[in-house]
Parts: sequence; structure tokens; C-alpha cells
Amino acid sequence: MGIAALGRPGVFLDRDGVLNEHVFHTASGGYEPPHAPDELRLFPWTIPALRRLSDAGYLLFIVSNQPDYAKRKTTLEALTSVREALDARLAAAGIGITETAYCYCHPDSSVEGYGIPCPCRKPSPWMVEQLLRRHRVDPQRSWMLGDRRSDIDCGAAAGLRTIQIYDPHSIPTEGVVAPSFRADNLSEAVRVILAEDDLASQNLTVGRPSR
Ligand SMILES: [Mg+2]
Ligand SMILES: [Zn+2]
Repeated sequence: MGIAALGRPGVFLDRDGVLNEHVFHTASGGYEPPHAPDELRLFPWTIPALRRLSDAGYLLFIVSNQPDYAKRKTTLEALTSVREALDARLAAAGIGITETAYCYCHPDSSVEGYGIPCPCRKPSPWMVEQLLRRHRVDPQRSWMLGDRRSDIDCGAAAGLRTIQIYDPHSIPTEGVVAPSFRADNLSEAVRVILAEDDLASQNLTVGRPSR
């Protein structure tokens, strides 16, 4: 079996609470995803952490639920502008994101076309599975990172290893599957990934002479 037969490794990243901070909105009195580009604040470790993953050979994907238009909290244009602002920030830093996938739906939405049961909303693995297929990514070599249990259930259902990232402003959710690992932030999660996959690659060479 040649190594070339294997799919590529990928890291699937939830967005809010992983790449950028939740922001306090006075209208709701709670912490929420950014609703405007000037509310988009990356964590200080986000760019270096993504660069480490990219340098190590992982394809990077962003997989995000953004239901706040469906919930009538903001406009679709606002959500698009934040998405584009993030794409621009990462590109300007030289971080290549292979593809992003967003679900704008919510099951309780009264906005026409956004409340129907959709295939994409996490914890459904649908968005991740589309990306796995489209980019020939091997789920067994890949990871899903998120701050909520819906991210973890999504990644597990797609056959990925998962890391739940602590975020103080994350809304707790119930999950079905326990995360493979927990980390305090994205930087710590990247350390876990690189250490785990280094161990995995050593296991693959068991029986060969050590150096
Ligand atoms: Mg999140
Ligand atoms: Zn959806």
C-alpha cells in the first residue's frame, strides 16, 4: 500500500469561539457571533496556529453555522460581509483556506426558505462530508475543531478526530459523542494535533529499524 493512495489530511475549523471571539451585543445582552466586519476580532494566536497547520501539510476548511439572519437578529448582507472580512484577513496573512462552508438556516426560523429542515446545519456532518469528497481528504487523518458539542458530534459523524476548544463566551450545548481531546484554545489544539499525528506516523513505521 503506497502512501500516495491515502487521502490528504485536513483540519475542519468551526469559526466563532475558535478563530474569532464572540462579541457582546447590547441588543440581546449576550455574546454572539460578529454581525459586522469591525466586530470581527481574531484571537491573537489564530494566524500563527493556522500557519503551523498549513506548514505541516493540512488542508484547512472553515465550517460554520450562522443562523442569525434566520433568527432575524441581523441581515444576510451583514453575515456575508463578516465572512468576506475573515477571508480577506486570512488571505492577507498568507493563510490558505481550501474552502469554507456555511449554513444560514435555523429549524425555528420564520424567514421564508431558512426554516425548512436543511441538510447542512451542524451537528449534521453534511458540510464536512461534501468537503472531504470534493478535496479527497481522508477523514481518518483529519480533525474537527469547535467550541460546541454540535461541532464535536458533526466531526465524529464524519469520521474525524475531534477537539473541543474552551471558549468562555460559548453557549453550552448538549452533545452525544465525547470529544477525542479538549484544549484551552486553537494554539493548544494545534499542539495536540501535531503531537498525535507524529505518534501515528511513528506507529506506521513499527517494525522498521529505528534511526
Ligand atoms: Mg463556535
Ligand atoms: Zn443549513
